Amino acid sequence: MKLLEEKIRKEGNVKEGNVLKVDAFLNHQMDVELFHEMGLEWKRLFEGKNINKILTIEASGIGIACVAAEVFHVPVVFAKKTASINLDGEMYTSKVESFTKKKVFDIIVSKKFLGPDDHILIIDDFLANGCAVMGLIDLINESGATLEGVGIAIEKGFQNGGKLIRERGIQLESLAIVESMDAATGEITFRN
Ligand code: 5GP
Repeated sequence: MKLLEEKIRKEGNVKEGNVLKVDAFLNHQMDVELFHEMGLEWKRLFEGKNINKILTIEASGIGIACVAAEVFHVPVVFAKKTASINLDGEMYTSKVESFTKKKVFDIIVSKKFLGPDDHILIIDDFLANGCAVMGLIDLINESGATLEGVGIAIEKGFQNGGKLIRERGIQLESLAIVESMDAATGEITFRN
């Protein structure tokens, strides 16, 4: 998606450790009009899929997922991250290693909000090694819901997450795929 690529080029910052900072428009200050265009693009890319719910993970996926959900006319559920969980049987749980914080979190979704009748689109801001998306897929599998696809704003194509997900035959639509980025020069190239 050209609009997103241009925004990344103009306002993104490449940091050491393969981190792309996009807090000017994506995950701190948020460009909601851009999010709307992203929602429309996912709607087009997932046309024909029977999606009744969007699933994301707190915190930075929530804003994007909410705007996309308005375009899809479906509710959003976000998985909560928690350091310790009370396993009372009311929650689906999985574990996610955070790429940016290097910590392992339990993620939870209430059984009230995910079940066998649901057809889920996962939305998140970044795809790096795929831990966050794989954790969400675990929750979907536990619940008996159907995964219809995964929509990502920025995939870092030089990390393994995209390969892991596509290998499973899952429809993955990343709106910008960074092929390479250089913290020294700030240069970013995108996959066509
Ligand atoms: P993964 O689980 O695929 O390794 O990483 C995805 C998660 O880590 C995303 O939910 C996102 O919040 C965070 N993340 C991964 N890479 C980056 C990055 O380059 N920049 C930012 N801002 N967040 C990232």
